[in-house]
Amino acid sequence: MKNPFDNAMSQLDQAARAGNFGHAFISRMKVPDRDIRISIPVEMDDGSIKIFEGYRVEYNNTLGPYKGGIRYHPDTDINEIKALAFWMTLKCAAAGIPMGGGKGGVTVDPKNLSKGELERLSRGWVRRLADVLGPRKDVPAPDVNTTPEIMAWIADEFEKITGDKTKAVITGKPIDKGGSEGRNTSTAQGAFYVFEKFKKELGLPEKCAVAIQGFGNAGSFAGVVFSRAGHKVVAISDSKGGVYNPLGLDMDKLLEHKKSTGTLSGFSGAKNISNMELLEIECDLLIPAALENQINETNAEKIKAKVVLELANGPTTPEADEILFKRDVPIVPDILVNSGGVIVSYFEWEQNLKKEHWSEKEVFDKLKKMLEENSEKILKKSKELKTTFRMSTFIVALERIEEKMI
Ligand code: NAD
Repeated sequence: MKNPFDNAMSQLDQAARAGNFGHAFISRMKVPDRDIRISIPVEMDDGSIKIFEGYRVEYNNTLGPYKGGIRYHPDTDINEIKALAFWMTLKCAAAGIPMGGGKGGVTVDPKNLSKGELERLSRGWVRRLADVLGPRKDVPAPDVNTTPEIMAWIADEFEKITGDKTKAVITGKPIDKGGSEGRNTSTAQGAFYVFEKFKKELGLPEKCAVAIQGFGNAGSFAGVVFSRAGHKVVAISDSKGGVYNPLGLDMDKLLEHKKSTGTLSGFSGAKNISNMELLEIECDLLIPAALENQINETNAEKIKAKVVLELANGPTTPEADEILFKRDVPIVPDILVNSGGVIVSYFEWEQNLKKEHWSEKEVFDKLKKMLEENSEKILKKSKELKTTFRMSTFIVALERIEEKMI
């Protein structure tokens, strides 16, 4: 698999050519402030001790405390975390929030751990990193395979170690443990607000046929949000494969089916498909919402969607970007599309520090306004510079960081 950090740096080089940035600034953006590797000893249920490898990359805090999720995945490594931390830096800058960029992770398949082992691993992660974390220093959040419950364990462990009772050290917590209304669905909801702003510009029909790769926090809620708005979700998949129905999938029934059977396949009225087939389905909108490098030089020619809306981080390689550009398939980029998650995380942090609790309406009204303004800015910038949406988003973000850094 291509190293995601190489992909990220190739995107940065391209933005540096398209924009007007100082050489020293671009060199500075190529290295993280620090990358930390930790070993986490965990007592397993059978009494043995297993050592896990964990990470926290603090990429850049020019605009504010480092901010970014924690990923638990068997393939996670320092290069993936570095790439994700770099994209977080630009995402927060493009979003216009006073946060820098970071990311964390553990190389582990959480499906192989009991709940107790998962809790001890998560508490172990924060014990190793308590010195560098904190509401004004570095504020993690959920990512792939990490949940509100894990965030609550981390907040609790951090409080035990430091005495900090604000809970603002981490976001994405359950609501009764200092979480924000709307955080769980904010990434998908935010993607929908961005989509609505871009829809006309991209010549998409009023009601779109949508294919979604991924059925986790981002993908499953996207399915719900898009179908509630009257769009037709024709295909959706998880790591084991997907289902397809050109007439549209009933999302509520599909969620029930996955809950009761543990899989998407076998859903009544739908055809089982592979993940690769999903990406190549004829549709208006393709939403990758799983992992990096899914759209690459091996399948970019075969993509039949009119538009790609990147809900996952880094789903398209630079090679695929070029192929899709030549084929006139616009990509609305990850760091704009999925920024609803970090924006509501920032709202959660602010509510914790001010000891406030906002209603879901207040959260989504603020989110919508911000994402509409950000989307307009990006659309304007890409017309001005005659460049792709990815490059214009990068340039808006880099300009904000460079100005503050200087
Ligand atoms: P998650 O753990 O909740 O879900 C991941 C989903 O992807 C699961 O359904 C899994 O089965 C599926 N998956 C894994 N490999 C796959 C493959 N090869 N093909 C198809 N599906 C596959 O994770 P999430 O939080 O939904 O994150 C998904 C993506 O969205 C990641 O790139 C993440 O960085 C990004 N993201 C998430 C948030 C958030 O708030 N959750 C915010 C911003 C960005």
